Amino acid sequence: MKVAFFSSKSYDRESFKATNVDYGHELTFFEAQLNCDTAILAKGYPAVCMFVNDIADAKTLEILVEGGTKFLALRSAGYNTVNLKRAQELGIKMARVPAYSPYAVAEHAVALILTLNRRLYRAYNRVRDDNFSLEGLLGFDLNGCNVGVVGTGKIGMVFAKIMQGFGCSLLGYDAYPNSQFETLGNAKYVSLPELLKESDIISLHCPLLPETHYLINGDTISGMKDGVMLINTSRGGLMDTRAVIDGIKAHKIGYLGIDVYEQEDELFFQDLSDTIIQDETFQLLQSFSNVVITAHQAFFTCNALEQIANTTLTNVTEFAKGETLTNEVVYKPSNP
Ligand code: NAD
Repeated sequence: MKVAFFSSKSYDRESFKATNVDYGHELTFFEAQLNCDTAILAKGYPAVCMFVNDIADAKTLEILVEGGTKFLALRSAGYNTVNLKRAQELGIKMARVPAYSPYAVAEHAVALILTLNRRLYRAYNRVRDDNFSLEGLLGFDLNGCNVGVVGTGKIGMVFAKIMQGFGCSLLGYDAYPNSQFETLGNAKYVSLPELLKESDIISLHCPLLPETHYLINGDTISGMKDGVMLINTSRGGLMDTRAVIDGIKAHKIGYLGIDVYEQEDELFFQDLSDTIIQDETFQLLQSFSNVVITAHQAFFTCNALEQIANTTLTNVTEFAKGETLTNEVVYKPSNP
């Protein structure tokens, strides 16, 4: 089947071309973001493959359908930029990649913890500058720390196991606890206020939902330990960034490591090094010496890319053969 890829980067092209040897689809890669101005590029392609920042709003979907597109293959888990209702009305089928390497994201959360705790970002720059002083590099042992895991699903469980290996005690909070978590040594479920109060390190691994939006806010921050380390590899909207900045300024939050940011759509996945960033909140956050930011790269391992390519091309194959779509995304009135 002919598939038009939008927002494709060199790593997408490499992983999809290599994986497609086993599938035999006709892949065409466009660098352009999918939106109503670029949808015309997909004319004549029955399948379109899109990523997290591509926009499939009503107008875009109508242009795609006019051009002969019948299937949207999302190479991501999320689908919040697709107008599902309009897609259903237009008869466009959709499928996504519901899960890929939980190790990639969990390990990145741990990388942020170690980078902050041992001040590796400072140490790296210092040694390159022939400055071998240890002033300002003092860390602490992870062994014996209380680590709060908010969301004990696939990624949260992998993260918990790794932290257990460091000799940490685990405090879990989940709206739907799973029986596996408490079988880990030194792990127990507690209420969210207790997790916040007792944890030296708090890592977020729950989805962004109306009930988790701004889970980290002025009130919840005030219930945390002084000098707490906060890690977010999940979704930017889980944290009220302004409240987090206030918490850093008040020395309540001692360390912050984030791979996601509320307004990341305007910034991430592009080279803006020659431009003036207008987002003052982001710039302020960057200015603190106890903050490490990565740009939504937690998923970015060769293992995860291979799984994304395999699942996406399986989805396309199922559609091409008229089979039941294992990973179909369907419109539900509660999830427009
Ligand atoms: P998952 O569905 O396996 O686990 C999510 C867990 O959160 C579940 O146990 C669920 O019960 C729990 N949860 C749901 N509502 C909750 C609430 N109100 N309070 C507390 N916990 C709640 O998902 P996963 O694969 O572990 O992914 C977790 C998150 O990681 C995703 O939602 C996504 O936002 C993020 N993620 C980030 C990247 C990245 O590159 N940074 C990549 C993939 C996923």
